[in-house]
Amino acid sequence: MRRKLIVGNWKMQGALAQNQELLNSFFTERGLLSVDLAVLVPAPYLAQAQGQLQGTGWFWGAQDVSDEVRGAFTGEVAASMLLDFGSKFTTVGHSERRQRHGESDQVVARKAQRALDVGITPIVCLGESLSERERGETRSVVRRQLAAIIDLLGASAMAQTVLAYEPVWAIGTGRSATAEQAQEVHAWLRGQMGEHDDEVAGKLRILYGGSVKPSNAVELMALPDVDGALVGGASLVASEFLAIAHAAARVN
Ligand code: PEP
Repeated sequence: MRRKLIVGNWKMQGALAQNQELLNSFFTERGLLSVDLAVLVPAPYLAQAQGQLQGTGWFWGAQDVSDEVRGAFTGEVAASMLLDFGSKFTTVGHSERRQRHGESDQVVARKAQRALDVGITPIVCLGESLSERERGETRSVVRRQLAAIIDLLGASAMAQTVLAYEPVWAIGTGRSATAEQAQEVHAWLRGQMGEHDDEVAGKLRILYGGSVKPSNAVELMALPDVDGALVGGASLVASEFLAIAHAAARVN
């Protein structure tokens, strides 16, 4: 049985006072013990997240990590630095980074490796653009993205990772994948993993991301191969994020 994981991705949003209020409203909530919960904050707020969430059962983490260990890489943040502030997770390969910063599948794989090297769980984001879906290329795109990670990390290390299927056309658009679309890709991704290692495939958590909100969370979280959600916009509104977490807890 895979435990559900609900992760909030604040993206480049937040401010000290506003974060304090949001974080407080998360951990004072009871009744969510059957799911794992995490928030990914902008790097400057990791200390704040650590200060407020430590000991509450909630996890926190970052949205990106350098593919280098340390050195002359201006502006980058090393995995060891994220760990210094108690980060449990970091996303790698979010489509906003693949698009804006030209991150290749190989760079994303190296980032996942750096996170794993220090014991941080990489949440590897995969997903096709609208034009790729319309051309019928969804499977070939996510297969290529997944293969780059497995090639570098090796199949057994994939057990220490989380995947997030995030169709690019569903991110921040209000247009979620349908339950059928999400289940189809998740099951297929698990099948791809199974071709390398069946046991890891059975354990691997695959999150869905893309306009998850309280109104679609119940249906999405109930899907057999959807093991949680990566939530952008709705993670900035406590009542919405908690409603999504409760939806996952109900079906866990
Ligand atoms: C995301 O940022 O990963 C995301 C899924 O955003 P949203 O929930 O706003 O679509």
